[in-house]
Amino acid sequence: MQRLYFLLILLFSLGNVFAQQFFPFIAEKVGSVSQVKENLITYEDFGIKQTGSEILDSVNRWLAEYYESLGYRVLLDSFNDGSASNIIIEKQGLDTNTWIILGAHYDSHNTSYGANDNGSGVVATMEIARIIANVPTQRSVRIINFSGEEQGFVGSQHYVTNTLNPSEIVNLMLNLDQLGGTKSSDNSKIVCERDEGNKIPENDALSFLKADTLATIISQYTNLEPVIGRAYSSDYIPFEKAGYTIVGLYQESDYDAFYHSPADRVFNMDTEATEQVIKGALAATLYFAGIDLLVGVEDISTNSFHIYPNAASESFQIEGLLETVNMILSNSLGEVVMQKKVAHSMPVEISSLSNGLYTVSIYGSDNKYMRTAKLIIAR
Ligand SMILES: [Zn+2]
Repeated sequence: MQRLYFLLILLFSLGNVFAQQFFPFIAEKVGSVSQVKENLITYEDFGIKQTGSEILDSVNRWLAEYYESLGYRVLLDSFNDGSASNIIIEKQGLDTNTWIILGAHYDSHNTSYGANDNGSGVVATMEIARIIANVPTQRSVRIINFSGEEQGFVGSQHYVTNTLNPSEIVNLMLNLDQLGGTKSSDNSKIVCERDEGNKIPENDALSFLKADTLATIISQYTNLEPVIGRAYSSDYIPFEKAGYTIVGLYQESDYDAFYHSPADRVFNMDTEATEQVIKGALAATLYFAGIDLLVGVEDISTNSFHIYPNAASESFQIEGLLETVNMILSNSLGEVVMQKKVAHSMPVEISSLSNGLYTVSIYGSDNKYMRTAKLIIAR
């Protein structure tokens, strides 16, 4: 126990030394989150979405058609003798066997329209599916809308026990349940949930690290304040029991009058906060799916380049560019410190910038994102 504690302290202190890299590419994708309130209202209008009900079947068809319209192939993972099913879609990365699993249950409590619990998570997966559909990633992304959550994670337990292929590598399971609190509450904080024990202690340390990363992502790409909290009572629990690394996003809010009640409606929700959490969830999906691990995102075979010298002191240049590009230089806080057009071997003056780790992002002539690289300024 003491050894584990020591290890965690060490890992956290290392985390403070290396500031997390900011990606303008992720920020740009985050800016395209929309359709939150419209989709929430459509979800709510179906009615009470009890597992196994005809209404939930209608929601299932609505979601399946939506995902298909984005070009995904929809897989239904049925359980309870075929009366209920999880909805699964997949986006392949370069690594087809390593997965980021994004989960959000689409059933609601048997007295509730479930706008917040869990229309908010469903709308998050809808927006993320739409925005990442054509984004190249290192790891593959699987989005699952679970049924049977309100009966005790029946759908997610079925998925982990019967459907998930144990030879696949699940890098992370990120669960989305209740995003954006009630209108009357202060929803400026979002809980980044980590695995504090639950069934298996061995998978806690990685979850702690991922939750820390998730918190940094929230502070970089949203206006919410991340707080670390405990993961419990949602669809990540069957994954945790099976040994996988889990984290979650959950909005802490005053739910007393709304939780599992007919008042869980869009007009009682803080949909601005929901939109912010969805932005954070999207940023986390892209980050964990490993856009930082890509050698190049676009046109890399005809347009590979490198930064020289690196570390740099007074200036640097980008070698191997075939065209003039837009370069955005950001510091470790994600603030853009320079933006200019550069060409092959053109010196970029940096003597006014202080020492530290920077991100160089390159956009092509049609403003297509091409690549992000690290630049160290040291004198
Ligand atoms: Zn829920």
